[in-house]
Amino acid sequence: MNYSPTLSKDIASNVQFPPQVSIIVPIYNERESLEHLVSAIARSLMTTALPYEIIGIDDGSTDGSTAHLKALAESRTDLCAVILRRNYGQTAAMAAGFNYAQGDLIISLDADLQNDPDDIPRVIAKLEEGYDVVSGWRKNRKDATLTRLIPSKIANWLIAQVTNVRIHDYGCSLKGYRAELIADMNLYGELHRFLPALAFMEGAKITEIPVNHYPRPYGNSKYGLGRTLRVLMDLLTIWFMQKFLTRPMHVFGSLGLLSMGLGVLVGSYLTVVKFALGEDIGDRPLLLLVIILLLAGVQLFSFGLLAELVIRTYYESQGKPIYRVREVITQS
Ligand code: UDP
Ligand code: MG
Repeated sequence: MNYSPTLSKDIASNVQFPPQVSIIVPIYNERESLEHLVSAIARSLMTTALPYEIIGIDDGSTDGSTAHLKALAESRTDLCAVILRRNYGQTAAMAAGFNYAQGDLIISLDADLQNDPDDIPRVIAKLEEGYDVVSGWRKNRKDATLTRLIPSKIANWLIAQVTNVRIHDYGCSLKGYRAELIADMNLYGELHRFLPALAFMEGAKITEIPVNHYPRPYGNSKYGLGRTLRVLMDLLTIWFMQKFLTRPMHVFGSLGLLSMGLGVLVGSYLTVVKFALGEDIGDRPLLLLVIILLLAGVQLFSFGLLAELVIRTYYESQGKPIYRVREVITQS
């Protein structure tokens, strides 16, 4: 990392060690925006007088952003460039940013100037009020109606139903987090938009503030309608994790027992019919039902047991506690 703790004379910045606020920006082919972006962020942070760092993550750009970002990082003390080896996607780029961030507060935003760096101090103020996650709400979103706004309205509604986190705009990249919360979260797929939901599962206090949004001044959006489907798949994962993560056996085991119980019940009825009444049951649809219920029951039950093992590995291999402590108060 080319990252020097000494302040260069030409650029006033509040970099000190350790920085208190880390701004992370995923960058994929955003050459024209970079310089404006970095200086706008620096200007905005200067008004807070907090020591900060900007971490630009180059996500395998092919338009010269990489060289540009490197040169900028060499000339500024408040900018750290993390260059990924290839294009991994926005979520992975953000995860890299979270890993390199040293601040207690982490703010993410897009590199394309659609988010307004001048909103950052308000996000910080909310975090300082005691919230763990502050999510931006693009009240006046400037994106294509048909391919972006409508799918996003539906997705936001669905996400709110599933996660019980009542915010309006999950997709907004401008968000602020307490670093300790992010530290042990793993991100996959398009999961970055679910960070508030994942944080909520960890007991975080979440709020939202309206933020500005602008049309993209340079370059093109990296996404289209296809993302909606990926987001829905991730939502399914989240729903599943929320429901079953700690005790899968409760769900699958009970369903399995229920199914087997029904199978035994209907099976007994058929046994009575055959042996007590002497009727032929070979071609009765109920017989098929009994077989399916019994098989499904065994399957569900063993699936629950397997899931239980997998979950244990999941928690224990990562040393994850099954609870989170906000504070501990003692007198000594
Ligand atoms: N981005 C990235 N890797 C990718 C795609 C996007 O780092 O594979 C970055 C991109 O440079 C931008 C942010 O993620 O800073 C959001 O991308 P974009 O503006 O295309 O998304 P939109 O605002 O249209 O949802
Ligand atoms: Mg954008």
